[in-house]
Amino acid sequence: MAEELAPSLTIEEVTRLRADFPILSREMNGHPLIYLDSGATSQTPQWVWDAEQQFYETFNAAVHRGAHTLAVEATDLYEEARATVAKFIGATERELVWTSNATEALNLIAYSFSNASAGRGGDAAKPFRLGPGDEILTTEIEHHANLIPWQELAARTGATFRYVPVLEDGSIDYDAAAHLVGPRTKIFAFTHVSNVLGVVTDVARLVALAKSVGAFTVLDACQSTPHMKLDVKALDVDFAAFSGHKMLGPTGIGGLYGRRELLDAMPPFLTGGSMITKVTMEGAEYLPAPTRFEAGTQRISQTIALASAVNYLSEVGIERISAWEHQLGQQLVDGLSAIPGVRVMGPTNIPRIGVAAFDVEGVHPHDVGQYLDSTGIAIRVGHHCAQPLHRKLGLAATSRASTYLYSLPSEVDELVRRVAEVRPFFG
Ligand code: PLP
Repeated sequence: MAEELAPSLTIEEVTRLRADFPILSREMNGHPLIYLDSGATSQTPQWVWDAEQQFYETFNAAVHRGAHTLAVEATDLYEEARATVAKFIGATERELVWTSNATEALNLIAYSFSNASAGRGGDAAKPFRLGPGDEILTTEIEHHANLIPWQELAARTGATFRYVPVLEDGSIDYDAAAHLVGPRTKIFAFTHVSNVLGVVTDVARLVALAKSVGAFTVLDACQSTPHMKLDVKALDVDFAAFSGHKMLGPTGIGGLYGRRELLDAMPPFLTGGSMITKVTMEGAEYLPAPTRFEAGTQRISQTIALASAVNYLSEVGIERISAWEHQLGQQLVDGLSAIPGVRVMGPTNIPRIGVAAFDVEGVHPHDVGQYLDSTGIAIRVGHHCAQPLHRKLGLAATSRASTYLYSLPSEVDELVRRVAEVRPFFG
């Protein structure tokens, strides 16, 4: 875990960097805003919008199309942004496809595989073909974005959808995984960090299982990329998906990492302009990756803004952010667990980021959320797009507090103090 590798940020540093996030000085319902919903979306520092604004002020043009100087400049910025973000996750620029978000990235893989299964992509696409007898494996802990695309892919191809169950405490049942991975497994998709429990998956263990049978691995890195050093090569996964808006970037931009040789051989998902080498009335030939997956006019300013967010994270130091948040996560777990009638979900003996989902006995999470909101504290309530996990935990919904680099221990203390008021308040 990163917290062993790097010293944490200090309160002084965090207090200073908070000035880059003007929204954090807002008042909410008569109280200073305490934003503990970064797991849903992060706040954005001013230099990220400055980068986006500067693009529109100075460089706006469609990329990869025009021969004029402005278009060349815009294209250079667009590709530089790709190189910056690719480097941040340990990949090369040829291995990063821009998408709208993690959801689109995961669907891109699923649709590409289903196009291959329908015979598209020629011989090169053979490894991606699925049919009856093949198995797609995921886990019960997943966000719906890393679950439904695989259910749908199975339905489209006749492959069998299977999942690794979670144990009663919500942790992945690794022993069951070892039994479920077999010669029929073609895809094993799992999350790096649970968006509900905040716990970190033992990726090496699951990758080793998948490799032993030659299955493709898909990592949902949506909750890890913002909070810890992600190195897709060191993790040795085939694909990884993430969203920019959870890592200080704007909405509408995310990414798919894929091994270069795989992306180049996979048939496209969306088709149209900007992704072809030749089009006739009979058919089309496609550019190599990543461009073959970027049909149509792309999000440009958003990629530049995301690169600027990544530069911000790198300047602060992702390992130091990780260490800071690990402390906040521990503070959340300790503080909330000590309140009578409050149960923090998930195992406490597994590394976790600054996320805690909790249940307040006898009080509906929506009431918890509303009470906290009235005190200026923003958290998320509901099933957090993980209904199967909640079902397994025996709850329809939970309350979830989630931190980021700008969160303060005093804010966690205030949350704990306010959560302790919830049961007496609802009596
Ligand atoms: N995967 C995980 C673990 C998430 O937490 C989320 C968002 O909350 C997603 C996938 C989907 O992200 P997006 O809605 O940005 O596509």
